[in-house]
Amino acid sequence: MAVPQTNGAKPKTGIKVIIVGAGFGGLTAAIECVRQGHSPVIYEAFPSLKILGDIISFGPNAGRIFARWKDGEIARAMRKVSIDLTAYGFNIHKWDTGEVVINQKTPPKNDETPVFNGHRGELHEIVFKYAKELGVEIVLNQRVGNYWETENAAGITLEDGTRVEGDVVVGSDGVRSKARTLVLGYEDKPKSSGYAVWRSWFSNKDMIADPETKQFCENGDTFNGWIGPDVHFLFSTLKGGSDCCWVLTHKDEHDIDESWSFPGKLSEVKDVLKDWDPMCTKIISKTPEEKLVDWKLVYRDPLPTWVSGYGSAPGHGRICLLGDSAHPFLPTSAQGATQALEDGVTLAVLLRKAGKDNIRGGLRAYQDVRYERVSKVQKTGETTRDMWHNTDWEKVKKNPESIQFPREDWIFAHDAEKHAEEVGDEIIAKASTSVDQQA
Ligand SMILES: Cc1cc2nc3c(=O)[nH]c(=O)nc-3n(C[C@H](O)[C@H](O)[C@H](O)COP(=O)(O)OP(=O)(O)OC[C@H]3O[C@@H](n4cnc5c(N)ncnc54)[C@H](O)[C@@H]3O)c2cc1C
Repeated sequence: MAVPQTNGAKPKTGIKVIIVGAGFGGLTAAIECVRQGHSPVIYEAFPSLKILGDIISFGPNAGRIFARWKDGEIARAMRKVSIDLTAYGFNIHKWDTGEVVINQKTPPKNDETPVFNGHRGELHEIVFKYAKELGVEIVLNQRVGNYWETENAAGITLEDGTRVEGDVVVGSDGVRSKARTLVLGYEDKPKSSGYAVWRSWFSNKDMIADPETKQFCENGDTFNGWIGPDVHFLFSTLKGGSDCCWVLTHKDEHDIDESWSFPGKLSEVKDVLKDWDPMCTKIISKTPEEKLVDWKLVYRDPLPTWVSGYGSAPGHGRICLLGDSAHPFLPTSAQGATQALEDGVTLAVLLRKAGKDNIRGGLRAYQDVRYERVSKVQKTGETTRDMWHNTDWEKVKKNPESIQFPREDWIFAHDAEKHAEEVGDEIIAKASTSVDQQA
């Protein structure tokens, strides 16, 4: 079944969807709700749109979603600020000698399934503005204090006490989700994954001035990774080499109860890299310390449910979790934001198919369609990290392809919208029967 490339004007469904959080998950859910005929409104705690974060990745399965927006105009805008590795590929180095064991080629460009790696804040701004352009109401500076639902409605309470009512509430409020506690009926705290990343994004000023590092900045975009025991260091230059960005994953057992993003210390990074290829320390030493972030990687076991009133969860089946609030990812999957997008697309299609009178069936079907796939993709973050951190270099010598970043068809070729269109009716019918059995 062909899926339209633009915003097909579907008949209005009369479903008011309240979305909490204007991250990529919430914004995509809202845009897709408009495409499917619903009426979304977003509540976001941030007082204004800010260019926050550093590198973020969207795989081809996300590119397919962006490419359908505004006749491809949104994807073209994202392309302009994203890395272009057509010529350079990905150089994978052995951690100590620095030798390049393989140059992983970049797959040919495909306008239907583009790939984007760029600054999170810049890409986010493009999506945010598109949601506004579509007429999505985005209410900033409103921290949602509580969620509520009845048989016939669901809503939120803002911190100033204002109650907002709709048909569905989507808790896309990120890894520190409040919605999660409400949906589950208990507080599920994230655990430390045992790893953290230091990450930074800065201008190439010092890098290009140094004869040893200017190679990364003078001929366009580059991507290099050094793989070692329990550590990997990924370094890119973007925007024709004018911006530099690196991410270093390393062991870290710190308690992440209170916060997991701190200012980083360059001396600690250098310490971890002391026996590594000296080029790594060279790159690190070009980093302005105030641009260094120490980001603890949180992990949680898959939640038993993402939907209120489903399985063991209390409630009436009108509140759901989406994106990081339902399933945080490790960066080594490079799929966290992409899976949040797939959630939003799937939810919007299934709500249209289920209709205003069967919200519970629609939300249950959303979980049933998404749950297994997301859990499997989540696992790839661990398997890639462990594959890299436990590399047998003798084996890699014989088979250098074995160390490449995995590009798996079952993840990348997935078309979330087409899939929801194809399986939606049957899964909604099954999920609706389970609603009736519980009622
Ligand atoms: C500031 C920031 C910087 C990030 N930087 C990076 C990065 O550099 N690289 C990377 O790979 N990933 C980054 N991420 C995470 C990445 O955006 C997500 O993993 C992914 O896009 C999934 O998005 P999400 O919409 O599920 O969650 P998020 O992107 O975390 O969005 C959740 C949103 O909900 C809002 N929110 C939370 N609680 C409430 C509340 N009670 N009321 C109203 N609003 C609320 C938050 O302010 C946030 O905007 C960042 C996230 C944030 C919020």
